[in-house]
Amino acid sequence: MEHGMLSGRRCLVTGGSKGIGKAVVEAFLREGAAVDYLSRSKADDHDSLAAMGPLGWLACDVSDAEALEAVVEEAVKTAPYDVVVNNAGVTRDGLSFRMPLDDWRAVIDTNLTSAFIVSRVAARAMIKRRSGSVINVASVVGLVGNGGQTNYSASKAGLIGLTKSLAREVASRGVRVNAIAPGYIDTAMTEAIPETAKSALRERIPLGRTGAPAEVASVALFLASDLASYVTGEVIRIDGGMAM
Ligand code: NDP
Repeated sequence: MEHGMLSGRRCLVTGGSKGIGKAVVEAFLREGAAVDYLSRSKADDHDSLAAMGPLGWLACDVSDAEALEAVVEEAVKTAPYDVVVNNAGVTRDGLSFRMPLDDWRAVIDTNLTSAFIVSRVAARAMIKRRSGSVINVASVVGLVGNGGQTNYSASKAGLIGLTKSLAREVASRGVRVNAIAPGYIDTAMTEAIPETAKSALRERIPLGRTGAPAEVASVALFLASDLASYVTGEVIRIDGGMAM
């Protein structure tokens, strides 16, 4: 597509093999971008996604900091990314008193440290070009907390701090850094929640329903595009009003 919102742009999406990340990959391809996604496994429907536009897969476990840095360094050698979406994330829930330190570290490494590594490698290349957009996928629990998710909430609150601090560091060089904070979105991550808990959650959502990955992707698309040219250091909730 020649006249898409991201036509001619090169984008990286971590955790693009399923869920929200895959919806972002699709939205970006639809708007004319060339997209690389980075994950441990290839998307089940990689070939049909690749039919939409230029698509690459970078195989990497984001919790392996050295491997991740090397993969992204290598990728930006070809050409800098115009847009980076730090979306890869996991949960390992449990009450803090009983949480093994490994569960704390795994979530911080996967959700937060990975974004630090990817962002600084990518932003260094963006600065040289004096343009770029970094989007961190946080969560409403990074804003309001959640019992049983101290590790996850800390990683997401950390992403918000990272977003605002990096935004200040690179703004004068034309690079924007923002975060999105989804609420309850229907993906594999939320599938495991028991039906009773799900209906209780729905009652707390003013729009009265859970969200779809594509509804998160459309906000990422906005932040990636020139429509958001004066937006940086912002956190946008996509939660049907749940955390207002
Ligand atoms: P999914 O479980 O559906 O997808 C997670 C993605 O992250 C997959 O592509 C997975 O790829 C990738 N990933 C996970 N661990 C690693 C790893 N160690 N290395 C590389 N890639 C990894 O989750 P969602 O789509 O629901 O979540 C996406 C993001 O949105 C996460 O950051 C999550 O915290 C956030 N979010 C989700 C909400 C929701 O309600 N669903 C609400 C708020 C925030 P693979 O397994 O192939 O490695």
